[in-house]
Amino acid sequence: MATITHTRTNPLSYLSDQLHDLKNKGTYFRLRVLEDEQAPECTFDGKRVVNLASNNYLGLTTHPKLRAAALEATRKYGVGSGAVRTIAGTMKIHMELEEKIARFKNVEASVVFQSGFAANSGTVSAVLGKDDFIISDELNHASIIDGARLSKAKILVFRHKDVAHAEEQLKSVANQPGRKLLITDGVFSMDGDIAPLPALCDLAEKYRAIMMVDDAHASGVLGKNGRGTIDHFGMHGRVDIQVGTLSKAIGALGGYVCGTRDLVEFLYHRGRPFLFSTSHPPSVAATCIAAFEVLEREPERIERLWENTRYFKNELGNLGFDIGGRSTPKSETPITPIITGEGRLAMEFSRELFKEGVMATGIAFPTVPEGKARIRTIMSATHTREELDQALDVLGRVGKRLGIVST
Ligand SMILES: *Cc1c(COP(=O)(O)O)cnc(C)c1O
Repeated sequence: MATITHTRTNPLSYLSDQLHDLKNKGTYFRLRVLEDEQAPECTFDGKRVVNLASNNYLGLTTHPKLRAAALEATRKYGVGSGAVRTIAGTMKIHMELEEKIARFKNVEASVVFQSGFAANSGTVSAVLGKDDFIISDELNHASIIDGARLSKAKILVFRHKDVAHAEEQLKSVANQPGRKLLITDGVFSMDGDIAPLPALCDLAEKYRAIMMVDDAHASGVLGKNGRGTIDHFGMHGRVDIQVGTLSKAIGALGGYVCGTRDLVEFLYHRGRPFLFSTSHPPSVAATCIAAFEVLEREPERIERLWENTRYFKNELGNLGFDIGGRSTPKSETPITPIITGEGRLAMEFSRELFKEGVMATGIAFPTVPEGKARIRTIMSATHTREELDQALDVLGRVGKRLGIVST
């Protein structure tokens, strides 16, 4: 046995120092632990709360058909796929899911990744190289930014939803030989606003750029039966690469890329998360297949989601909150931020709400810009009117107590 002859100093002590700084800033957090199902009313850390924090837009995390599909697939095919897709981990059920998604999205082909994050970072980094250009909205998701960095392409950021600025950026590299990728979130996750997709598609065509949309928060929410922003704007055939997630409205886990058969085949060969990380357990693939069936058979879920969204947004505005602009709030979707400005205040607001039975996450820098801290609320189809009224009552009281709205 080795004898320790010197005192070992902890080489990671700088991490503790940085955590200490976060505590001083008031933006340190602990993980809240869910003790029952992901549902509109549930128990975090022993406290019963109305849940305004989850991406479970349609209540599919607990849908009986999805549960049954997962259990049956587990009984039939076991719990794991045993390998990456390119070695031995492609099961028939993975192919069925991909065919289902392609038909649903009205595209030639689709490929599923382990997460939406992996789909974005794996795809952007595979389709572009160091001589290419990425023209990207400043509020695009972190997984797009990471993919862009991994690709080594030059990144040109345009101001949020600013089509003229996007055009300036495209123009500035129009004479360069590299390929251009114009990329945007369909729905922006922190403000709940929708990308100006028709104008961006026009630009992509004008400058012969590849058009890519990350529809994580639009899948299951916007468009016919939740087909996303491409369907919402009637842009079928004009977006070369569509990304979606299976982790939000679909209720399970995963991400997918839709496009031509050749795009998908190329990603089989060059998408690094596809090549180097094990595929989904059969239960998850089966769950997602069942979820797409529910989207087509139960459109009333999406209607209820939007009814709840209209009601809740309206009432939040009536309470006097800044929901991302007072006269014309930016959000056009079930995501509604309540802006507090300071990070410390957002975190305190979130903690006080929790004590009174409302779960709404505080979000501060670096997830949102400095001075734009907020709590973010997300509606679901399965919140009852009573739950929403209860949450609004608490929001109003705590908001006044903390001086976020005037009394
Ligand atoms: C959530 C999200 C992702 C990541 O999806 P996961 O399936 O959770 O990995 C990607 N893009 C956007 C815009 C998102 O909101």
